[in-house]
Amino acid sequence: MKFLINGEFIDKSDHYDVINPYNGEIVDTVPIAYRNDVDKAIESANNAKKTLNDLSAKEVSNNLLDSSRELEKEGENIAKLIVAEAGKPYKQAIIEIQRSVETLQFAAEEAKRIYGESVPIDASGSTDTRFLAFTKKVPLGVVGAISPFNYPVNLALHKIAPAIAAKNTVVMKPSMEAPLSALRLVEIINNHFPSGVINSVTGYGSEVGDAIVVSPYVNKISFTGSVATGLFISSRAGMKKLTLELGGNDPLVVLSDANIEKAVNAAVSGAFLFSGQVCIGVKRIILDNKIADEFIDLFAKKANKLKMGNPMDESTDIGPLINENAAINVEVSVNNAIENGAELILGGNRKDCFFEPTILDNVNGSMNLVAEETFGPIAPIIRIDGIDEAIKVANDTQYGLQAGVFTENIHSALRCANEIDAGSVLINKESTFRTDAMPFGGFKSSGIGKEGIKYAVEDMCKTKLIAFNCE
Ligand code: NAD
Repeated sequence: MKFLINGEFIDKSDHYDVINPYNGEIVDTVPIAYRNDVDKAIESANNAKKTLNDLSAKEVSNNLLDSSRELEKEGENIAKLIVAEAGKPYKQAIIEIQRSVETLQFAAEEAKRIYGESVPIDASGSTDTRFLAFTKKVPLGVVGAISPFNYPVNLALHKIAPAIAAKNTVVMKPSMEAPLSALRLVEIINNHFPSGVINSVTGYGSEVGDAIVVSPYVNKISFTGSVATGLFISSRAGMKKLTLELGGNDPLVVLSDANIEKAVNAAVSGAFLFSGQVCIGVKRIILDNKIADEFIDLFAKKANKLKMGNPMDESTDIGPLINENAAINVEVSVNNAIENGAELILGGNRKDCFFEPTILDNVNGSMNLVAEETFGPIAPIIRIDGIDEAIKVANDTQYGLQAGVFTENIHSALRCANEIDAGSVLINKESTFRTDAMPFGGFKSSGIGKEGIKYAVEDMCKTKLIAFNCE
Protein backbone atom coordinates (compact mmCIF):
# COMPACT_ATOMS: atom_id res chain seq x y z
CA MET A 1 0.00 0.00 0.00
CA LYS A 2 1.19 3.55 -0.64
CA PHE A 3 0.86 6.84 1.20
CA LEU A 4 -0.94 9.86 -0.17
CA ILE A 5 0.31 13.40 -0.81
CA ASN A 6 -1.78 16.01 -2.61
CA GLY A 7 -4.13 13.34 -3.91
CA GLU A 8 -1.35 11.18 -5.37
CA PHE A 9 -0.25 7.77 -4.14
CA ILE A 10 3.47 7.81 -3.35
CA ASP A 11 5.78 4.83 -3.34
CA LYS A 12 9.42 4.79 -2.19
CA SER A 13 12.39 2.59 -2.81
CA ASP A 14 12.54 1.55 0.88
CA HIS A 15 9.71 -0.52 2.34
CA TYR A 16 8.89 -2.50 5.44
CA ASP A 17 6.61 -5.47 5.95
CA VAL A 18 3.40 -5.29 7.94
CA ILE A 19 3.22 -8.64 9.76
CA ASN A 20 0.07 -10.47 10.80
CA PRO A 21 0.68 -11.23 14.51
CA TYR A 22 -1.58 -14.29 14.34
CA ASN A 23 0.35 -16.28 11.73
CA GLY A 24 3.52 -14.28 11.01
CA GLU A 25 2.55 -13.77 7.37
CA ILE A 26 3.26 -10.55 5.49
CA VAL A 27 -0.02 -8.65 5.09
CA ASP A 28 1.43 -5.96 2.83
CA THR A 29 4.49 -3.75 2.45
CA VAL A 30 4.51 -0.03 3.15
CA PRO A 31 6.90 2.65 1.88
CA ILE A 32 9.33 4.21 4.35
CA ALA A 33 9.14 8.00 4.14
CA TYR A 34 11.97 10.35 5.11
CA ARG A 35 11.99 13.97 6.22
CA ASN A 36 11.85 15.36 2.69
CA ASP A 37 8.67 13.33 2.02
CA VAL A 38 7.12 14.70 5.19
CA ASP A 39 8.01 18.22 4.07
CA LYS A 40 6.17 17.58 0.80
CA ALA A 41 3.10 16.33 2.68
CA ILE A 42 3.16 19.41 4.91
CA GLU A 43 3.58 21.69 1.87
CA SER A 44 0.59 20.00 0.24
CA ALA A 45 -1.50 20.53 3.40
CA ASN A 46 -0.33 24.14 3.62
CA ASN A 47 -1.28 24.83 0.00
CA ALA A 48 -4.74 23.28 0.47
CA LYS A 49 -5.69 25.56 3.39
CA LYS A 50 -7.28 28.24 1.18
CA THR A 51 -9.28 25.74 -0.88
CA LEU A 52 -10.67 24.14 2.28
CA ASN A 53 -11.44 27.52 3.81
CA ASP A 54 -13.36 28.51 0.68
CA LEU A 55 -15.78 25.60 1.25
CA SER A 56 -18.86 26.50 3.25
CA ALA A 57 -19.47 24.81 6.59
CA LYS A 58 -22.36 23.02 4.90
CA GLU A 59 -20.08 21.67 2.16
CA VAL A 60 -17.51 20.47 4.72
CA SER A 61 -20.30 18.80 6.66
CA ASN A 62 -21.70 17.11 3.54
CA ASN A 63 -18.25 15.88 2.51
CA LEU A 64 -17.69 14.38 5.95
CA LEU A 65 -21.06 12.63 5.67
CA ASP A 66 -20.12 11.31 2.22
CA SER A 67 -16.87 10.00 3.74
CA SER A 68 -18.86 8.25 6.46
CA ARG A 69 -21.06 6.56 3.82
CA GLU A 70 -18.06 5.30 1.87
CA LEU A 71 -16.40 4.06 5.07
CA GLU A 72 -19.59 2.19 5.93
CA LYS A 73 -19.69 0.63 2.47
CA GLU A 74 -16.04 -0.46 2.71
CA GLY A 75 -16.41 -1.39 6.38
CA GLU A 76 -16.08 -5.14 6.17
CA ASN A 77 -12.89 -5.02 4.09
CA ILE A 78 -11.28 -2.42 6.33
CA ALA A 79 -12.26 -4.40 9.43
CA LYS A 80 -10.49 -7.41 7.90
CA LEU A 81 -7.39 -5.27 7.37
CA ILE A 82 -7.45 -4.33 11.07
CA VAL A 83 -7.72 -8.02 11.97
CA ALA A 84 -4.78 -8.91 9.73
CA GLU A 85 -2.43 -6.10 10.74
CA ALA A 86 -3.30 -5.75 14.44
CA GLY A 87 -4.68 -9.18 15.37
CA LYS A 88 -7.88 -7.59 16.63
CA PRO A 89 -10.77 -10.09 16.79
CA TYR A 90 -13.13 -9.50 13.85
CA LYS A 91 -16.17 -8.81 16.01
CA GLN A 92 -14.24 -6.00 17.75
CA ALA A 93 -12.81 -4.65 14.48
CA ILE A 94 -16.26 -4.35 12.94
CA ILE A 95 -17.43 -2.40 16.02
CA GLU A 96 -14.44 -0.07 15.53
CA ILE A 97 -15.62 0.60 11.97
CA GLN A 98 -19.24 1.18 12.99
CA ARG A 99 -18.04 3.58 15.64
CA SER A 100 -15.84 5.37 13.09
CA VAL A 101 -18.79 5.86 10.75
CA GLU A 102 -20.48 7.55 13.68
CA THR A 103 -17.38 9.63 14.48
CA LEU A 104 -17.54 11.09 10.98
CA GLN A 105 -21.26 11.77 11.41
CA PHE A 106 -20.62 13.59 14.71
CA ALA A 107 -17.90 15.66 13.01
CA ALA A 108 -20.27 16.49 10.14
CA GLU A 109 -22.74 17.86 12.69
CA GLU A 110 -20.12 19.84 14.61
CA ALA A 111 -18.81 21.39 11.38
CA LYS A 112 -22.06 23.40 11.33
CA ARG A 113 -21.88 24.48 14.98
CA ILE A 114 -18.69 26.52 15.22
CA TYR A 115 -19.86 29.68 16.96
CA GLY A 116 -18.19 32.76 18.35
CA GLU A 117 -19.80 35.07 20.93
CA SER A 118 -20.45 38.75 21.48
CA VAL A 119 -18.01 40.45 23.86
CA PRO A 120 -19.17 43.15 26.34
CA ILE A 121 -16.28 45.55 25.90
CA ASP A 122 -18.14 48.09 28.07
CA ALA A 123 -17.78 45.78 31.08
CA SER A 124 -14.47 47.52 31.61
CA GLY A 125 -14.98 50.96 33.19
CA SER A 126 -12.44 52.61 30.94
CA THR A 127 -14.42 52.11 27.73
CA ASP A 128 -17.74 53.41 26.57
CA THR A 129 -20.75 51.58 25.24
CA ARG A 130 -20.10 52.33 21.59
CA PHE A 131 -18.15 49.20 20.87
CA LEU A 132 -19.40 46.25 18.89
CA ALA A 133 -17.18 43.23 19.54
CA PHE A 134 -17.39 39.54 18.88
CA THR A 135 -15.18 36.50 18.59
CA LYS A 136 -14.78 34.30 15.58
CA LYS A 137 -13.38 30.77 15.63
CA VAL A 138 -10.77 30.34 12.95
CA PRO A 139 -8.86 27.24 11.83
CA LEU A 140 -5.37 26.64 13.17
CA GLY A 141 -3.93 25.73 9.76
CA VAL A 142 -2.14 22.41 9.37
CA VAL A 143 -2.73 19.66 11.94
CA GLY A 144 -0.25 16.81 12.43
CA ALA A 145 -2.15 13.65 13.42
CA ILE A 146 -0.10 10.83 14.97
CA SER A 147 -1.90 7.67 16.05
CA PRO A 148 -1.20 4.32 17.76
CA PHE A 149 -1.74 0.72 16.66
CA ASN A 150 -4.65 -0.31 18.84
CA TYR A 151 -7.59 1.52 17.22
CA PRO A 152 -5.91 2.32 13.92
CA VAL A 153 -9.04 3.71 12.23
CA ASN A 154 -11.03 5.24 15.06
CA LEU A 155 -8.16 6.99 16.83
CA ALA A 156 -6.87 8.38 13.54
CA LEU A 157 -10.39 9.69 12.91
CA HIS A 158 -10.56 11.34 16.33
CA LYS A 159 -7.88 13.65 14.96
CA ILE A 160 -8.73 13.88 11.27
CA ALA A 161 -12.51 14.38 11.58
CA PRO A 162 -12.54 17.30 14.05
CA ALA A 163 -9.53 18.88 12.32
CA ILE A 164 -11.32 18.95 8.96
CA ALA A 165 -14.66 19.90 10.54
CA ALA A 166 -12.91 23.05 11.78
CA LYS A 167 -11.37 23.55 8.30
CA ASN A 168 -7.81 22.50 9.09
CA THR A 169 -5.78 20.47 6.63
CA VAL A 170 -4.08 17.31 7.90
CA VAL A 171 -0.88 15.30 7.68
CA MET A 172 -1.56 11.87 9.13
CA LYS A 173 1.07 9.43 10.40
CA PRO A 174 -0.32 6.02 11.33
CA SER A 175 1.49 3.55 13.60
CA MET A 176 4.18 1.36 12.05
CA GLU A 177 2.48 -1.85 13.19
CA ALA A 178 -1.00 -1.15 11.81
CA PRO A 179 -0.82 1.46 9.02
CA LEU A 180 -2.95 -0.23 6.35
CA SER A 181 -6.47 0.47 7.60
CA ALA A 182 -5.51 4.07 8.40
CA LEU A 183 -4.12 4.52 4.88
CA ARG A 184 -7.44 3.27 3.48
CA LEU A 185 -9.28 5.71 5.72
CA VAL A 186 -7.19 8.63 4.42
CA GLU A 187 -7.86 7.48 0.86
CA ILE A 188 -11.62 7.48 1.50
CA ILE A 189 -11.64 10.96 3.02
CA ASN A 190 -9.45 12.23 0.18
CA ASN A 191 -12.14 11.04 -2.25
CA HIS A 192 -14.52 13.63 -0.81
CA PHE A 193 -12.25 16.66 -0.31
CA PRO A 194 -9.98 18.74 -2.54
CA SER A 195 -6.48 17.27 -2.97
CA GLY A 196 -4.07 18.16 -0.19
CA VAL A 197 -6.72 18.55 2.52
CA ILE A 198 -5.64 15.17 3.86
CA ASN A 199 -2.22 13.59 3.37
CA SER A 200 -0.55 10.54 4.86
CA VAL A 201 3.06 9.47 5.45
CA THR A 202 4.33 6.13 6.72
CA GLY A 203 7.59 5.17 8.36
CA TYR A 204 9.50 5.47 11.63
CA GLY A 205 8.12 7.61 14.42
CA SER A 206 11.55 9.03 15.14
CA GLU A 207 11.86 10.20 11.51
CA VAL A 208 8.38 10.78 10.06
CA GLY A 209 6.60 11.59 13.34
CA ASP A 210 9.41 13.87 14.48
CA ALA A 211 9.51 15.74 11.15
CA ILE A 212 5.81 16.56 11.60
CA VAL A 213 6.33 17.59 15.23
CA VAL A 214 9.19 20.02 14.54
CA SER A 215 7.88 21.56 11.31
CA PRO A 216 7.24 25.31 11.55
CA TYR A 217 4.37 24.88 9.08
CA VAL A 218 2.40 22.57 11.37
CA ASN A 219 0.20 24.44 13.84
CA LYS A 220 -1.05 21.65 16.05
CA ILE A 221 -0.06 18.11 16.99
CA SER A 222 -2.83 15.75 17.92
CA PHE A 223 -1.15 12.63 19.30
CA THR A 224 -2.39 9.39 20.80
CA GLY A 225 0.16 6.92 22.13
CA SER A 226 2.42 6.15 25.07
CA VAL A 227 3.47 8.56 27.81
CA ALA A 228 7.13 8.26 26.80
CA THR A 229 6.45 9.29 23.20
CA GLY A 230 4.02 12.02 24.32
CA LEU A 231 6.63 13.52 26.65
CA PHE A 232 9.22 13.45 23.89
CA ILE A 233 6.82 15.13 21.46
CA SER A 234 6.04 17.88 23.96
CA SER A 235 9.77 18.58 24.30
CA ARG A 236 10.09 18.93 20.51
CA ALA A 237 6.88 20.73 19.54
CA GLY A 238 7.84 24.27 20.55
CA MET A 239 4.85 26.66 20.63
CA LYS A 240 2.47 24.36 18.76
CA LYS A 241 -0.91 23.57 20.25
CA LEU A 242 -0.88 20.02 21.63
CA THR A 243 -3.47 17.38 22.35
CA LEU A 244 -1.82 14.36 23.97
CA GLU A 245 -3.96 11.29 24.65
CA LEU A 246 -1.60 9.00 26.54
CA GLY A 247 -1.50 5.83 28.59
CA GLY A 248 -3.86 4.69 31.30
CA ASN A 249 -3.87 2.48 34.38
CA ASP A 250 -7.61 2.55 34.92
CA PRO A 251 -9.09 1.09 38.08
CA LEU A 252 -12.28 -0.91 38.48
CA VAL A 253 -13.27 -0.20 42.06
CA VAL A 254 -15.64 -2.84 43.46
CA LEU A 255 -17.02 -1.86 46.87
CA SER A 256 -18.56 -4.32 49.33
CA ASP A 257 -22.14 -3.33 48.38
CA ALA A 258 -21.61 -3.76 44.63
CA ASN A 259 -23.84 -5.91 42.45
CA ILE A 260 -21.26 -8.67 42.09
CA GLU A 261 -22.52 -10.16 38.86
CA LYS A 262 -22.59 -6.78 37.09
CA ALA A 263 -19.12 -5.93 38.42
CA VAL A 264 -17.74 -9.27 37.24
CA ASN A 265 -19.19 -8.77 33.75
CA ALA A 266 -17.54 -5.33 33.69
CA ALA A 267 -14.22 -6.86 34.75
CA VAL A 268 -14.38 -9.50 32.00
CA SER A 269 -15.14 -7.06 29.20
CA GLY A 270 -12.94 -4.27 30.61
CA ALA A 271 -9.77 -6.27 31.27
CA PHE A 272 -9.76 -8.53 28.23
CA LEU A 273 -11.13 -6.41 25.35
CA PHE A 274 -8.59 -6.56 22.50
CA SER A 275 -6.36 -8.62 24.79
CA GLY A 276 -6.06 -5.67 27.19
CA GLN A 277 -4.39 -3.45 24.59
CA VAL A 278 -6.77 -0.57 25.26
CA CYS A 279 -5.78 2.72 26.89
CA ILE A 280 -9.02 2.70 28.92
CA GLY A 281 -8.89 -1.04 29.63
CA VAL A 282 -9.40 -2.15 33.22
CA LYS A 283 -5.80 -2.46 34.42
CA ARG A 284 -6.36 -2.71 38.20
CA ILE A 285 -9.29 -4.32 40.02
CA ILE A 286 -9.56 -2.74 43.44
CA LEU A 287 -11.72 -5.21 45.32
CA ASP A 288 -13.17 -5.08 48.82
CA ASN A 289 -12.08 -8.04 50.95
CA LYS A 290 -15.67 -8.64 52.11
CA ILE A 291 -16.77 -9.80 48.65
CA ALA A 292 -13.41 -10.77 47.17
CA ASP A 293 -13.77 -14.56 47.25
CA GLU A 294 -17.25 -14.57 45.70
CA PHE A 295 -16.17 -12.05 43.03
CA ILE A 296 -12.98 -13.95 42.11
CA ASP A 297 -14.79 -17.29 41.88
CA LEU A 298 -17.35 -15.94 39.39
CA PHE A 299 -14.76 -13.84 37.54
CA ALA A 300 -12.52 -16.86 36.92
CA LYS A 301 -15.48 -18.95 35.69
CA LYS A 302 -16.56 -16.26 33.20
CA ALA A 303 -13.05 -15.36 32.02
CA ASN A 304 -12.33 -19.04 31.46
CA LYS A 305 -15.07 -19.11 28.81
CA LEU A 306 -13.35 -16.54 26.60
CA LYS A 307 -12.29 -18.10 23.32
CA MET A 308 -8.69 -17.55 22.28
CA GLY A 309 -7.69 -18.17 18.66
CA ASN A 310 -7.77 -16.94 15.09
CA PRO A 311 -8.91 -13.30 15.22
CA MET A 312 -10.59 -13.65 11.81
CA ASP A 313 -12.96 -16.21 13.32
CA GLU A 314 -16.14 -14.40 14.35
CA SER A 315 -16.40 -16.31 17.62
CA THR A 316 -12.89 -15.38 18.83
CA ASP A 317 -12.67 -13.16 21.93
CA ILE A 318 -8.91 -13.13 22.47
CA GLY A 319 -6.44 -12.76 19.62
CA PRO A 320 -2.68 -12.29 19.66
CA LEU A 321 -0.89 -9.25 21.06
CA ILE A 322 0.51 -6.83 18.51
CA ASN A 323 3.88 -8.65 18.36
CA GLU A 324 5.94 -11.18 20.27
CA ASN A 325 7.96 -8.54 22.14
CA ALA A 326 4.74 -7.10 23.55
CA ALA A 327 3.71 -10.60 24.72
CA ILE A 328 7.14 -11.21 26.27
CA ASN A 329 6.93 -7.90 28.18
CA VAL A 330 3.58 -8.97 29.62
CA GLU A 331 5.02 -12.39 30.54
CA VAL A 332 7.93 -10.76 32.40
CA SER A 333 5.59 -8.48 34.39
CA VAL A 334 3.25 -11.37 35.29
CA ASN A 335 6.12 -13.64 36.40
CA ASN A 336 7.67 -10.83 38.39
CA ALA A 337 4.36 -10.23 40.23
CA ILE A 338 4.06 -13.95 41.01
CA GLU A 339 7.65 -14.08 42.32
CA ASN A 340 6.77 -11.17 44.59
CA GLY A 341 3.70 -12.80 46.14
CA ALA A 342 0.80 -12.43 43.68
CA GLU A 343 -1.40 -15.52 43.39
CA LEU A 344 -2.19 -16.85 39.92
CA ILE A 345 -5.92 -17.59 39.63
CA LEU A 346 -6.25 -18.12 35.86
CA GLY A 347 -4.05 -18.20 32.74
CA GLY A 348 -0.47 -16.94 32.98
CA ASN A 349 0.95 -18.58 29.86
CA ARG A 350 2.35 -17.20 26.63
CA LYS A 351 2.63 -18.87 23.23
CA ASP A 352 4.27 -16.75 20.53
CA CYS A 353 2.19 -13.54 20.36
CA PHE A 354 -0.67 -14.99 22.42
CA PHE A 355 -1.10 -14.46 26.13
CA GLU A 356 -3.89 -16.21 28.02
CA PRO A 357 -6.53 -14.15 29.84
CA THR A 358 -4.92 -13.97 33.27
CA ILE A 359 -6.24 -13.18 36.73
CA LEU A 360 -3.87 -12.48 39.61
CA ASP A 361 -4.94 -12.04 43.22
CA ASN A 362 -3.06 -10.32 46.08
CA VAL A 363 -1.30 -7.87 43.80
CA ASN A 364 0.10 -4.76 45.46
CA GLY A 365 0.72 -1.30 44.07
CA SER A 366 4.51 -1.57 44.10
CA MET A 367 4.55 -4.44 41.59
CA ASN A 368 5.59 -3.39 38.09
CA LEU A 369 2.45 -5.04 36.71
CA VAL A 370 0.29 -2.26 38.18
CA ALA A 371 2.84 0.49 38.87
CA GLU A 372 3.27 0.79 35.08
CA GLU A 373 0.70 0.46 32.31
CA THR A 374 0.54 -3.23 31.29
CA PHE A 375 -0.81 -3.67 27.77
CA GLY A 376 -2.04 -7.26 27.88
CA PRO A 377 -5.01 -9.45 28.93
CA ILE A 378 -4.23 -9.22 32.63
CA ALA A 379 -6.62 -8.61 35.52
CA PRO A 380 -4.58 -7.79 38.63
CA ILE A 381 -6.63 -7.77 41.84
CA ILE A 382 -5.61 -5.41 44.64
CA ARG A 383 -7.59 -6.19 47.81
CA ILE A 384 -8.72 -3.33 50.05
CA ASP A 385 -10.88 -2.75 53.12
CA GLY A 386 -13.49 -0.03 52.66
CA ILE A 387 -13.96 3.05 50.55
CA ASP A 388 -11.14 5.18 52.04
CA GLU A 389 -8.52 2.65 51.04
CA ALA A 390 -10.23 2.06 47.66
CA ILE A 391 -9.99 5.74 46.71
CA LYS A 392 -6.41 6.00 47.99
CA VAL A 393 -5.32 2.99 45.89
CA ALA A 394 -7.27 4.18 42.83
CA ASN A 395 -5.37 7.49 42.96
CA ASP A 396 -2.00 5.91 43.74
CA THR A 397 -0.76 6.08 40.14
CA GLN A 398 0.78 8.61 37.78
CA TYR A 399 -2.15 8.01 35.39
CA GLY A 400 -5.70 9.39 35.45
CA LEU A 401 -7.55 8.46 32.28
CA GLN A 402 -10.91 6.91 33.28
CA ALA A 403 -12.18 4.94 36.30
CA GLY A 404 -15.10 2.58 36.90
CA VAL A 405 -16.77 2.17 40.30
CA PHE A 406 -19.29 -0.49 41.30
CA THR A 407 -21.46 0.26 44.29
CA GLU A 408 -25.20 0.28 45.07
CA ASN A 409 -24.74 3.08 47.61
CA ILE A 410 -25.33 6.60 46.29
CA HIS A 411 -23.13 8.22 48.96
CA SER A 412 -20.21 5.96 48.09
CA ALA A 413 -20.81 6.62 44.39
CA LEU A 414 -20.76 10.38 44.91
CA ARG A 415 -17.61 10.21 47.01
CA CYS A 416 -15.78 8.16 44.41
CA ALA A 417 -17.00 10.46 41.62
CA ASN A 418 -15.65 13.47 43.53
CA GLU A 419 -12.43 12.03 44.84
CA ILE A 420 -11.04 9.78 42.12
CA ASP A 421 -8.62 11.89 40.10
CA ALA A 422 -9.38 10.85 36.51
CA GLY A 423 -10.75 12.42 33.33
CA SER A 424 -13.97 10.37 33.67
CA VAL A 425 -15.43 8.48 36.61
CA LEU A 426 -18.10 6.00 35.54
CA ILE A 427 -20.44 4.66 38.19
CA ASN A 428 -21.55 1.06 37.64
CA LYS A 429 -19.71 0.95 34.32
CA GLU A 430 -16.20 -0.15 33.45
CA SER A 431 -13.58 2.39 32.28
CA THR A 432 -13.55 0.87 28.80
CA PHE A 433 -16.78 2.74 28.00
CA ARG A 434 -16.41 5.62 25.55
CA THR A 435 -18.83 7.32 23.16
CA ASP A 436 -18.23 10.26 20.86
CA ALA A 437 -20.52 12.56 22.81
CA MET A 438 -18.20 12.31 25.85
CA PRO A 439 -15.36 14.72 26.51
CA PHE A 440 -12.45 12.29 26.60
CA GLY A 441 -8.96 12.86 27.93
CA GLY A 442 -6.92 12.01 30.96
CA PHE A 443 -5.54 13.86 33.97
CA LYS A 444 -1.97 13.62 35.32
CA SER A 445 0.39 11.71 32.99
CA SER A 446 -2.55 10.45 30.90
CA GLY A 447 -2.42 13.56 28.78
CA ILE A 448 -3.46 17.07 27.96
CA GLY A 449 -6.49 18.34 26.05
CA LYS A 450 -9.79 16.68 25.28
CA GLU A 451 -11.13 14.59 22.45
CA GLY A 452 -14.76 13.68 21.87
CA ILE A 453 -15.81 15.43 18.69
CA LYS A 454 -17.44 18.56 20.11
CA TYR A 455 -14.48 19.18 22.45
CA ALA A 456 -11.87 18.25 19.86
CA VAL A 457 -13.38 20.69 17.35
CA GLU A 458 -12.99 23.49 19.96
CA ASP A 459 -9.33 22.53 20.32
CA MET A 460 -8.90 22.63 16.55
CA CYS A 461 -9.78 26.35 16.39
CA LYS A 462 -8.24 29.56 17.61
CA THR A 463 -10.31 32.46 18.88
CA LYS A 464 -10.05 35.81 17.14
CA LEU A 465 -11.54 39.00 18.58
CA ILE A 466 -13.04 41.55 16.21
CA ALA A 467 -13.99 44.93 17.71
CA PHE A 468 -15.59 47.96 16.07
CA ASN A 469 -15.23 51.36 17.67
CA CYS A 470 -18.60 52.84 16.69
CA GLU A 471 -18.22 56.33 18.13
P1 NAD B 1 3.62 4.70 20.70
O1 NAD B 1 3.80 5.87 21.59
O2 NAD B 1 4.71 3.71 20.62
O3 NAD B 1 3.35 5.17 19.18
C1 NAD B 1 2.30 6.05 18.86
C2 NAD B 1 2.64 6.77 17.57
O4 NAD B 1 3.74 7.65 17.80
C3 NAD B 1 3.06 5.86 16.42
O5 NAD B 1 2.49 6.33 15.22
C4 NAD B 1 4.57 6.02 16.41
O6 NAD B 1 5.16 5.73 15.17
C5 NAD B 1 4.70 7.50 16.76
N1 NAD B 1 6.00 7.92 17.26
C6 NAD B 1 6.96 7.17 17.86
N2 NAD B 1 8.03 7.94 18.17
C7 NAD B 1 7.75 9.19 17.76
C8 NAD B 1 8.46 10.43 17.81
N3 NAD B 1 9.69 10.53 18.32
N4 NAD B 1 7.86 11.54 17.32
C9 NAD B 1 6.62 11.47 16.80
N5 NAD B 1 5.91 10.33 16.71
C10 NAD B 1 6.46 9.20 17.19
O7 NAD B 1 2.25 3.99 21.14
P2 NAD B 1 1.63 2.59 20.67
O8 NAD B 1 2.44 1.47 21.22
O9 NAD B 1 1.32 2.61 19.21
O10 NAD B 1 0.21 2.62 21.43
C11 NAD B 1 0.03 2.19 22.74
C12 NAD B 1 0.00 3.35 23.71
O11 NAD B 1 -0.99 4.29 23.31
C13 NAD B 1 -0.41 2.92 25.11
O12 NAD B 1 0.37 3.60 26.06
C14 NAD B 1 -1.87 3.35 25.21
O13 NAD B 1 -2.35 3.54 26.51
C15 NAD B 1 -1.82 4.62 24.42
N6 NAD B 1 -3.16 4.96 23.95
C16 NAD B 1 -3.80 6.05 24.51
C17 NAD B 1 -5.10 6.36 24.12
C18 NAD B 1 -5.83 7.54 24.69
O14 NAD B 1 -6.80 7.98 24.07
N7 NAD B 1 -5.43 8.09 25.83
C19 NAD B 1 -5.74 5.56 23.18
C20 NAD B 1 -5.06 4.45 22.65
C21 NAD B 1 -3.77 4.18 23.04
